[in-house]
Amino acid sequence: MSTPAKNIRIMCPNLKCRSILVVPETARGKNVKCSNCATLFKIPVTAPTPSPAGR
Ligand SMILES: [Zn+2]
Repeated sequence: MSTPAKNIRIMCPNLKCRSILVVPETARGKNVKCSNCATLFKIPVTAPTPSPAGR
């Protein structure tokens, strides 16, 4: 099976917004704009994925 482009979910850093934005994984390290509050922020390369089996 081919691996489709994953999407990552990231919370808007604007404390008054905190919307969950879904962006493609290829957007890591790039700037995105929140569609809700228009805040421009950078997606961290290591996205905070909710993995329960962490170290
Ligand atoms: Zn926002």
